[in-house]
Amino acid sequence: MIPSEFQYFAPATVDEAVGLLQQHGDDAKLIAGGHSLLPALKLRLSSPSVLIDVSKIGGLDTITVNGSVTIGAGATYRAIASSDAVRGACGVLAECVAQIGDNQVRNRGTIGGSLAHADPAADLPAVALALGASVTAKGPGGERSIGADDMFVEMLTTALEPNEVIIAVTFPTLGAGEGAAYEKLRQPASRYAIVGVAAYVKLGADGNVAEARVAVTGAGPKAVRQSASEAALAGTSGDEAAVAAAAAVAGDDMDYLGDIHASEEYRRAMVKVYTRRAIASALARARG
Ligand SMILES: Cc1cc2nc3c(=O)[nH]c(=O)nc-3n(C[C@H](O)[C@H](O)[C@H](O)COP(=O)(O)OP(=O)(O)OC[C@H]3O[C@@H](n4cnc5c(N)ncnc54)[C@H](O)[C@@H]3O)c2cc1C
Repeated sequence: MIPSEFQYFAPATVDEAVGLLQQHGDDAKLIAGGHSLLPALKLRLSSPSVLIDVSKIGGLDTITVNGSVTIGAGATYRAIASSDAVRGACGVLAECVAQIGDNQVRNRGTIGGSLAHADPAADLPAVALALGASVTAKGPGGERSIGADDMFVEMLTTALEPNEVIIAVTFPTLGAGEGAAYEKLRQPASRYAIVGVAAYVKLGADGNVAEARVAVTGAGPKAVRQSASEAALAGTSGDEAAVAAAAAVAGDDMDYLGDIHASEEYRRAMVKVYTRRAIASALARARG
């Protein structure tokens, strides 16, 4: 349980961090809250010879709510969950991070670390997908924006380039007629998602569902949108039958993982149950 030896750098700016990544290449790894990386180092699943600590970069944890919700990559779950501005503009985001791990994890873990790590059981990827969030990353060529739909490539793998640092994640603010919810079946010890479902709905002037987005995490190798459920819900009145129909097709077209906590079959069944709950809750919020 002792990591292999590494050099430690604590850059003061993102540019310095990018420079260090360029300089040390594959030998280097960024560290933020350390709640995914440190266990991997201690188990020697990862043995970088250089650690670049982004938690000392000034301003990387800034939260700005101004038409949209922009969360600095270094913002901790605790900071996000306790932000009145986030709770008012994008309540589901605050609710999601408040359910991550325990106090220690929420005090240290960061939004940037979570999305960069892309753990198959992580909560935030589902919410990022359902809300259409975007990730801003900075590399040697400057900044670029990565839509949540393009971010999660496969298990523990994202669209980030090796020399890129996530600097912020932007979510939309939710207005009248919009609602979103995150429902998870949590692993009782770690609170990771055995199955987690995020749903977003927007009602049209006629009260019908104009837009729906649903995403599942925890069940398979990566978080994924549920296009069949979204299509089943869009254009309907969002009544009980429509919600049931959308839930019935959830998870039919995705890969599953089974482990000591839950079999593939159980996860497949729970995706439908939690999709129904998440959509029903999102609809109730959209209707005010
Ligand atoms: C006991 C326990 C329970 C947990 N329960 C949950 C849970 O219920 N739900 C959940 O979602 N997660 C859970 N986690 C994981 C936790 O959320 C981690 O904090 C998160 O996965 C990683 O964030 P971090 O800031 O700790 O990143 P780190 O561990 O420091 O880094 C993780 C990865 O992200 C990279 N990285 C970090 N910051 C950046 C950046 N700015 N740009 C680019 N790459 C970056 C690192 O290089 C590394 O590869 C749990 C962890 C523990 C230990």
